[in-house]
Amino acid sequence: MNSHIKGECLCGTSSYEWRNESKEVVYCHCNDCKKATGSAYSLTIEADIETLSILSGDLNEYKKVSDSGNIISREFCPECGSILFIKIDSYPDLVWINAGNLIESEMIKPTQEIWTKRKVSWAHIDDTLPSKVEE
Ligand SMILES: [Zn+2]
Ligand SMILES: [Zn+2]
Repeated sequence: MNSHIKGECLCGTSSYEWRNESKEVVYCHCNDCKKATGSAYSLTIEADIETLSILSGDLNEYKKVSDSGNIISREFCPECGSILFIKIDSYPDLVWINAGNLIESEMIKPTQEIWTKRKVSWAHIDDTLPSKVEE
């Protein structure tokens, strides 16, 4: 359970190692996640920031006020544009790691869905997960 997992961006310039200790693994259906990922939802791992070590790369960030009023930073590789991490200004001790960048993504398990009011009807996930209409 407490093994380390590596992750990287599409081009491989930016990489990290994460101590496999998640608080939640969250599907988010908000409109910002749809636009930022180009997909119907995001899947991120909520973790303590101290469980994350950057191995290579120098990420850029894009900040935006979310629908919930939080200032959200999306950190992305300047070479290929992959978003690796999401941070929320009011939670400086936490990071949300984009699950698709993990090299061994079978080692995590989704635990909840948020912003399900914005979920598209064809985004069929797991009906047994607890869900929240808003975050
Ligand atoms: Zn890259
Ligand atoms: Zn979202």
